[in-house]
Amino acid sequence: MISDKTTRTRKSGRTFPSCLACHADPGFTWACGCGFALCTDCLRQNNDLWMGGGRTWRCPQCGKEHLGPNR
Ligand SMILES: [Zn+2]
Ligand SMILES: [Zn+2]
Repeated sequence: MISDKTTRTRKSGRTFPSCLACHADPGFTWACGCGFALCTDCLRQNNDLWMGGGRTWRCPQCGKEHLGPNR
């Protein structure tokens, strides 16, 4: 009986890219898989990114939609 669990604790190991608009690194950004990332403030200020009445935002680089902070 071998309990060989590769336990990789990812509690604080995940890092988010810094905001592409204001270059802040708040520790969390709304990032897209293509590399685009915005902090919460910049995302809220970019009204043209918002879709569906403010529930989702659309990545301007690849067009993928993501759930935003205004759920
Ligand atoms: Zn920002
Ligand atoms: Zn994208």
